Amino acid sequence: MTTNTLKSHCHCGNLSVELYTEKTEEDFTPRTCQCDLCKQHGASWISDPEGEAKFIIKDRDLANFYRFGHSTSDFVICKTCGVLMIALCELENKTKAVINKTPMLDHEFKTPEILTNFDGETVEGRLERRTQNWTGNVIIEG
Ligand SMILES: [Zn+2]
Repeated sequence: MTTNTLKSHCHCGNLSVELYTEKTEEDFTPRTCQCDLCKQHGASWISDPEGEAKFIIKDRDLANFYRFGHSTSDFVICKTCGVLMIALCELENKTKAVINKTPMLDHEFKTPEILTNFDGETVEGRLERRTQNWTGNVIIEG
């Protein structure tokens, strides 16, 4: 049972995310990734390994699953309005996710963001980190 639902949707409403968590906004430390894509989008990421996420896609043709670098994850960007919503990674036959908190306009995250830079990380190290930190239960609808 979870106590808190954090919601976001892209500007046009094609993509929505719900994070079900025991945590409150204050418990999250958003991670501002210093890769070029995240900087260009102003993305800052939250996840809860104990939580559950639902990613709702109204029109899949209008969702861009963007891969770059090591191509180990999909950065999902709405093709209509251009908002970056979520990153998905297949780990141990499960989909894991981090959620961009920037589109979460109804939620205030008061804990200062930390800067992360994973440029020097090995692919193995990257997948291990995601296994530990990313939201473990992800349901994709649509
Ligand atoms: Zn959109």
